[in-house]
Amino acid sequence: MQKYLFILLTLLLAVACNGSSRNRDEARKQLLTVTIEPQRYFLEQLVGEDYSVNTLVPPGTSPESYEPSPSVMIDLGKSAIYFRVGDLGFEKAWSARLAENNPNVKIVNCSTGIELMAGDPPDQEQVDHAGHDHTHEALDPHVWSSPRAMRIFVRNMLDALVEANPERAETYRENYLRLSEKIDAVDSTLTALLETAPSRSFIIYHPALGYLARDYGLRQHSIEFEGKNPSPAQLKELIDLARREKINTLFVQRGFDLKNGEVIAREIGAELFEIDPLRYEWDEELIRIATLLSRQRDE
Ligand SMILES: [Zn+2]
Repeated sequence: MQKYLFILLTLLLAVACNGSSRNRDEARKQLLTVTIEPQRYFLEQLVGEDYSVNTLVPPGTSPESYEPSPSVMIDLGKSAIYFRVGDLGFEKAWSARLAENNPNVKIVNCSTGIELMAGDPPDQEQVDHAGHDHTHEALDPHVWSSPRAMRIFVRNMLDALVEANPERAETYRENYLRLSEKIDAVDSTLTALLETAPSRSFIIYHPALGYLARDYGLRQHSIEFEGKNPSPAQLKELIDLARREKINTLFVQRGFDLKNGEVIAREIGAELFEIDPLRYEWDEELIRIATLLSRQRDE
């Protein structure tokens, strides 16, 4: 009996030690911070086990209305680099403060070099949380919906990593090549799927797929108007347009109200789908969206 007890205790001790040494490893690792989950998808593939990656906006939360908690800000302050998407509402509202409070954190704008589109109609991103209107700089910040834009985005990440950690440059470049091939494969899949889409237009609650539409020859129409719910007149206009363009797909993002989408979908006989452009599995979600757009109508 005693013998078994001894073996059991030894096993338990081994498991406990193993766990805590792994935790120590994690704690020793330097931090990198990103704004949204799709960025973590890219960055983790570039750095491998070298860093821990911290995401500011938790899944299911809108980066438009997000306000970081003090503990999140402390983690950000401990990071070697903060990778911002570019000009998301939260980033615009907070980046000056972030830079001021954390002079040691290098801030990288991942959208540098991407040809940005006008946010048309202006996005909610343009209004910061103090209520100041920034519509004069209305650029669409949702670049991650297009694999073609992500080639530049990921390149910006690589450059910053190589600069911060030159001894590991070779590994990061190899990882970058592997990741680029993956992005190219998603691009080819989307091209093939969207070529046969029965309608070139779709409706979406919040205009998060503008770059996908631009790069694959589609038209995005948003229900949200200047970041707000549409008026009855605007809703009617959208319904007329949807009939003209024979739209059969309506997207509402996770975390947004389905009601207006349901009304329009019923009016025009389209199907409503919930999507999650902020999901970690960036590739899977884009392919899912393209598959939905390419589905054939029931005759
Ligand atoms: Zn948005």
